[in-house]
Order: sequence, then structure tokens, then C-alpha cells
Amino acid sequence: MRPPPDQNPAPAECTRCDELRDEERRAEAALDTSRATDCRVLLRRHPHPREILDRIGEAHPALTPDPGVGLWEREVRLLQRDSVRVRSLAERILGQGIAYLVTAMEKPGNDMGPGFEVDQGVHQVILDTPVYFALCAAYNGGRYKHHAPLIQRRRDGIVLRTADLIAANGFAVDWELWEVDASDCGPCDDKVPDSH
Ligand SMILES: [Zn+2]
Repeated sequence: MRPPPDQNPAPAECTRCDELRDEERRAEAALDTSRATDCRVLLRRHPHPREILDRIGEAHPALTPDPGVGLWEREVRLLQRDSVRVRSLAERILGQGIAYLVTAMEKPGNDMGPGFEVDQGVHQVILDTPVYFALCAAYNGGRYKHHAPLIQRRRDGIVLRTADLIAANGFAVDWELWEVDASDCGPCDDKVPDSH
């Protein structure tokens, strides 16, 4: 018989944490203490989408009505129920969707847009409307950040530029999920104020 599904599986390994730890080790081996210190600071500051959602869920218990199911787990299950049926893929897509939304809010004024794959994670969060409001409260100064797509997908390289912006904001980038849409790009635009 198969074991019951894990209620709270451990987070996937973080490629950015691994890179920073490797770089810290190389810097220490080269006696470059200032670079090693920089790496430790970056490691401490570097954001993780799962922690971002779970912190919001813990601060607002009404967002997680199912007993024992935290906010990250809730959004993964909703995404699995409605569109991305493979759990590991749902987690990857949700993580990049959160990284996108938080970066769009923290770094306003950039032309940003996800491709089809990551947009599924973005839409999942926006559809759980009180969760999206709580994210706006935490990362957009309490102002609602609109999501206002164009009809036509853009083909101007915006998807990979967006992934670069997310990386520059400290998030791990799951490049496969961005590269798959690199040539067919995203429909997002900043046509209304404070939108993505
Ligand atoms: Zn990490």
C-alpha cells in the first residue's frame, strides 16, 4: 500500500542558497573574508516564496480555513486542483509566481511580464482574492496592484528580462519555466497605474 500523502512536505532545495553557500566556501578558501561576509548577508536576506506565503498565512489565520493546511500548501493544492496536476510542477510554478508578484510590487516602474507557465501561479494567487489582498498589504504598501493583461502575447523578450529582474531582487529563478515561454512571451503590461 502506498504511504499517505505528506501533509507538509519539506520545501524543495533552493538553488540560490546552494549557489551562495558554494560561493561563500570558495571565498573562504581564497581568504576573501569580505566576499564571504557578503555571501552570508545575501543568504540571510534572500527570499523564499514558501516562507513568504506561510508568514502571511500565520499572520492572517482566516486565509487558511482548512485545518492543518498552511497558505503555501493551500495554494499548491488549489493550483493542482484547477490547472497544474503534477505536484512538483505546481510547487515550482507557484514559487515563481510569488517571486514575480513580490518583485512587481517591490520594484515598481519596471516593464514586467511572465510567460504562460509562470502566469498560472500568478493567477492562482490573484484568484484567492483575500490572499492577493494580503500580499498587496505586505508588499505594495497596502495598495491594490492591478493585473491588466494585453490580449496579444508580446514577443519582445520581456519574459527573460522579467526573470532577470526577479533574480536581481534576490529570488531563485527556475529558468526552465521562463525559457519555455521566451519566444512567446507574456501579455502583461503597465497600461493602468500600479499594474503588472
Ligand atoms: Zn534559498
